[in-house]
Amino acid sequence: MNNHVTILEINGNALVHNLNYFKQKLNQKTKILAVVKASGYGSDALQIAEFLKDKVDYFAVAYTSEGIALREANIKTPILVLHPQIPNLQAIIDFDLEPNLYNFSIFTAFLKLAEDNSLSNYPVHLKFNTGLNRLGFHFKDVPKIITLLKETTHIKVAYLFSHLVASEDKNEQSFTKNQINRFNEISTEFYKNLDYKPMLHMLNTSGVINYPKAQFNMVRIGIGLYGFGNNKKETALLKNTHNLKSIISQIHTIEKGETVGYNRAFTANKQSKTATIPIGHADGLSRKLGNKKGFVLINNKKAPIVGNVCMDMIMVDVTEIDCTEGQEVIIFNTQEMIQHIADVTETISYETLTGISHRITKTLSV
Ligand SMILES: *Cc1c(COP(=O)(O)O)cnc(C)c1O
Repeated sequence: MNNHVTILEINGNALVHNLNYFKQKLNQKTKILAVVKASGYGSDALQIAEFLKDKVDYFAVAYTSEGIALREANIKTPILVLHPQIPNLQAIIDFDLEPNLYNFSIFTAFLKLAEDNSLSNYPVHLKFNTGLNRLGFHFKDVPKIITLLKETTHIKVAYLFSHLVASEDKNEQSFTKNQINRFNEISTEFYKNLDYKPMLHMLNTSGVINYPKAQFNMVRIGIGLYGFGNNKKETALLKNTHNLKSIISQIHTIEKGETVGYNRAFTANKQSKTATIPIGHADGLSRKLGNKKGFVLINNKKAPIVGNVCMDMIMVDVTEIDCTEGQEVIIFNTQEMIQHIADVTETISYETLTGISHRITKTLSV
């Protein structure tokens, strides 16, 4: 039982709208991989996967444990694990997950396990570094990989893939095009030298928006599913999926000169009314939003956060708002409100969403 009254409502209709928005930009044959890492960008990967399982071709998670959780929830869709970690490779096999193999250490470790487990044609994804310098084989590794692949029937490369560095940045167009060219050269080498053709995937959300020609066989959509494009225009065409709500725990009347919260950070300059809301920095609401940098909505009116954000609570100024204890409070329910929080806290929507804490109950509804 979770009696924390602050809840994140995940809007299933918005998810479907966003998915369809990207589908109509793509060729009909192009497969869709929904990225549900980091609890589905701060929401709930299990509920999202359960809801989308018949609407997408693949899921991706960052870590093996996230993939196991989906399998334990009876999700049967193929799952790519982007950063599997060598000690978890047996679990990858046991739970029928597909590993990203990105260098010779993990490649040979997985190959050895595939032999030990007498697997045949186990699907793997090989990642190539085309400029991000994060994870991935180098172009010059290709001949050695091909030699190793020709000697085994235990694994089969389902996909080759790579990741763009700056797909959202128009100023980096020539760099991005070089990455795409490099990826094409790599796949050409594989096609020349292997007797089967692995499929390909490269684009994330902004990649689909800016470089749809490089959609290859599949695209990996994360933030776009959750309502954010790479500019205001694209974002406006998407729907918000994350609605964070709470209720008023207590209302105080504050006399002129009284202070509110830790360190007396707010002093009332007239008789005022404050509402205490059960959400704080432990829930992912940054302390940077204190002292009127952030606000919530009560009765459709902006109530600025006064004083410091506490671990479990905030106090907001409701002097001008007609409201009562127990009443609903919107922390955010639009992309604009999420972007405002991201701007004030000097980050991006990705971090604002993934920062929503595990303590908050999540419910997906349509
Ligand atoms: C997180 C991630 C994605 C999703 O990116 P978005 O910008 O959220 O669409 C795609 N590919 C890889 C390799 C990732 O790590």
